[in-house]
Amino acid sequence: MKQLRVLSVMAHQDDFEFEAAGLFLRLRQHYGSNVALKIVTTSCGGSGHHEMSFEETARRREAEAKASAAIVGAEYENLRQLDGTHIPAQVFCDRNMLGGLWNCIRDFAPDYVIAPPVVTNPLAGIHIDHQHTAEALRYIAYQLGVPNAYPTMNAPRQQRFRVPVFLVCLDTYGQENIWDFSVNVDSVKEDKIRMLRCHASQIEEWLPFVDSLNDPEGAIYERGPNGENIRWSEERWRAETERRFHQRNLLCGFDDSIAREYFAITKWGTSSTTPGMTARESLAQDFPFSDWRQ
Ligand SMILES: [Zn+2]
Repeated sequence: MKQLRVLSVMAHQDDFEFEAAGLFLRLRQHYGSNVALKIVTTSCGGSGHHEMSFEETARRREAEAKASAAIVGAEYENLRQLDGTHIPAQVFCDRNMLGGLWNCIRDFAPDYVIAPPVVTNPLAGIHIDHQHTAEALRYIAYQLGVPNAYPTMNAPRQQRFRVPVFLVCLDTYGQENIWDFSVNVDSVKEDKIRMLRCHASQIEEWLPFVDSLNDPEGAIYERGPNGENIRWSEERWRAETERRFHQRNLLCGFDDSIAREYFAITKWGTSSTTPGMTARESLAQDFPFSDWRQ
């Protein structure tokens, strides 16, 4: 059997764990060594901390992402742009970034790319890095089959390249509910949580800091007698994580607390990994544990 290859490209180091780590864990469970998994982030994450310097934050994010990727047996890489540099701060879709992404995807040659969704509701909130990563993947999808679209960085130029299928996950900021199938990740939930917990600089430090600015009551800190933040609370975070699963389900039409991840099939790239099969048939074959939207 041919080895399946699945690549996640998201903006930040914890985005994959929130939206698609359960899918990767289920793929590993199902295929064993017969699936190659890779996690790429576009942002180096350097600006996302309230105490550490940019360089220190970026170094920590990389170490955390590698530790998390090791749990599911995936490779991790922070995107290199066409000029060899990492993206310095905010993610923008310029030629340097798009060329890096084009090379990165052609190098790994995935069957599937898991991407953030392009948020389409003009009233929805967006995160600049998430939205530009989604748009970049959409822009690049067609160009992946064009051998001279960008200079080749790491390998001899390939004339023919099989464009992958692009799937999108949900986005916390956009809160849109566009999905075709869900994956029940209850059986791998503890490993998904272990992967999330690898991102201590976000889960325990940065996200509670941001939350407490935006929502003083909802912050996941233990509070002192005068309501001051003392330390991150694992118990409150776990409760918040369960609440998040339930909220996702409500958004997608289920009033239960099963841990699920949700994905939609795009028309950005190829529609099917198997010639002659529809998108849905080839997905049902490659991800046999998926549940289709009724
Ligand atoms: Zn993010």
